[in-house]
Amino acid sequence: MGKHLVGDVPNVICPYCGEDKLQMLHWTHLKKHGKKLEDVIREFPNHITMTKEEYERKCQISKKGTEASIKTQSQMKTVYCVYFNDKNCSKESIEVPKNYPNNWVCDKCRSLGKEEVDGRRIEKANIERKKTLQEKYGKNVTNPQHISSVNKKMVQTQREKYGGVGYERSDLSKK
Ligand SMILES: [Zn+2]
Ligand SMILES: [Zn+2]
Repeated sequence: MGKHLVGDVPNVICPYCGEDKLQMLHWTHLKKHGKKLEDVIREFPNHITMTKEEYERKCQISKKGTEASIKTQSQMKTVYCVYFNDKNCSKESIEVPKNYPNNWVCDKCRSLGKEEVDGRRIEKANIERKKTLQEKYGKNVTNPQHISSVNKKMVQTQREKYGGVGYERSDLSKK
């Protein structure tokens, strides 16, 4: 792939047909002449093939894309133990990226052999949790986050640790 010669000019001119309203010598245009950018570079070494404006616009677009993906990655949510309502639960929560599933089980509950959860169980647990919280703290409290006494356990995200998906699990990190 050839590299564009960027110039501070209002328009780029096609050296083959004289078209002068271009922002860059796009391959789709050059194709009409049976040419490639490489040909332009070879045949017209000092010919400007992209305007500074177009170049900056392209830089801006790729920069925006990077910023957007960083923003998405940094969006976190709080997930509470599925067994939050159980008497023995540590009532802990973890911070995970937004797109992670909600079926996290705290170490305490896991140690009690409660890790098997399926979707229905979680849904039921969530409904139960909401009900219990409302009964205990009033109808506006539907989420443990509303209670200040909830323990918050910040865990290093999997992205930092393993570069990807999943939860930090004590049984995994030992491996
Ligand atoms: Zn042309
Ligand atoms: Zn638990």
